[in-house]
Amino acid sequence: MISRLDDAIDFAFTNGLIKRAQTGQLKHVPFSLTPYLITSSEQDQLEELTPLFNDVMTRVGDDSAYLEDRLAEVVRTDTFTKQLMSLMKETTSDQPAQLLLSRSDYIAEKPEAGLVNRSHKQVEFNMISNSFPFMATKTYDLHRYLYQTHSDGQRLVPNGALSGYSEAMAKAVEYYDSTNSCILMVVQPGESNIFDQRGLEYEILKNFGYPTVRMTLEQIAANSRIQNGHLMVDGYIAALTYFRAGYTPSDYKNKDAWRGRQIIEASSSIKCPTIGAQLAGTKKIQQVLTNPAELSLFAEPAVAEKLSDTFVKIYSMTDTIDGQSVVDIAMERSDEYVLKPQREGGGNNLYNQELVECLDTSTEDELMAYILMEKIRAMDHPSVLVVEGQSSKIDCISEIGRYGACLREGSNMILNNDCGYLVRTKAREVNEGGVSAGFACLNSLILKD
Ligand code: ADP
Ligand code: MG
Repeated sequence: MISRLDDAIDFAFTNGLIKRAQTGQLKHVPFSLTPYLITSSEQDQLEELTPLFNDVMTRVGDDSAYLEDRLAEVVRTDTFTKQLMSLMKETTSDQPAQLLLSRSDYIAEKPEAGLVNRSHKQVEFNMISNSFPFMATKTYDLHRYLYQTHSDGQRLVPNGALSGYSEAMAKAVEYYDSTNSCILMVVQPGESNIFDQRGLEYEILKNFGYPTVRMTLEQIAANSRIQNGHLMVDGYIAALTYFRAGYTPSDYKNKDAWRGRQIIEASSSIKCPTIGAQLAGTKKIQQVLTNPAELSLFAEPAVAEKLSDTFVKIYSMTDTIDGQSVVDIAMERSDEYVLKPQREGGGNNLYNQELVECLDTSTEDELMAYILMEKIRAMDHPSVLVVEGQSSKIDCISEIGRYGACLREGSNMILNNDCGYLVRTKAREVNEGGVSAGFACLNSLILKD
């Protein structure tokens, strides 16, 4: 191990690598002391994919007829997706521009027998509320500090997530071109990951001078209004509405919350993301796009090939493999699959016995709101993890997320780039990957020699 535990913990608290526990107490976020190895060609390949995915996924998000058709079987039983779909169809806004702050998550798969190179497979492409642009950047700073006198420090991969996200958000505000602008950040009440959000807010204020107003959907319903199309909050014009809430049913506990969302959608504030982009980020659309004929509707052949190289098999519940129903196959070999509902935020997927029980007890209609994904067989590696002040060396697997930013007005791409990365490292046996949910530790990348 490279450094002293106490130094690392002091650095974490001093630099905002913290979270609010349920008791209200402040704790450092779980982090790794051992950066995750990547080759420079893997690094280049993942970076190159980000703008390609951004382009395709914003096109999908703009195609409301496509979304309605491909999500038809989901909305029959999934009330939340249905409500989002209805809102998309009912509301129109005169804002032609949209901002997407994306994150594409990958796990490196073990090479097949006889092969040496591992390949990165996509877990999912996130279109809304992607966490940790601030914390991921600070984790890189932590590792740079710990490796300051060590030659390996030269090989740490710089992380531009915070600057990339904040520059793209500022660009969206400039595009809106109004005086008295602010960013409206839609938040959950009692957010434990608030410091990641505030870190982004302070970065934008420091570098661009734009203030951020934080409100829950209910507060927006009670305290905002639309004036000549502008969304007015706290005496400002909300040039950009950035969602760090609104992705899960529990964010809509009552009609007021839905009214808050409706006000935003009807206004000319630039949305990050649009409701169409949010729906394009559903797991059902991810499954549909693994079909080459579907992907070709939105991507040129050369692009489609690059993107689909990262796909593992994902099935709809009516699919068959060699004549056998995927439901039967998954019941027999439950450890090879992940069953996913149309939900974001971690902790919703089903594995092993839970997967079997769900397949066993759900109706055919209910199952259409799920997709079945092949489990990615990750390569494991030893890592030193620090959780609540204690360090331990364990066998881990790591997941890389590439942050992307894309500002577009119809077919006019104003900005589209890869901004940086997130690494989450977790014990090999753990299925889920969330840091806030307590499953994983923040990490950074280091190049192999
Ligand atoms: P969510 O929208 O809740 O984040 P994800 O699809 O990203 O859902 O799944 C959550 C976590 O579960 C991932 O971060 C990853 O660690 C694990 N996971 C999901 N799908 C797979 C898969 N196909 N193979 C291996 N692990 C997976
Ligand atoms: Mg995820």
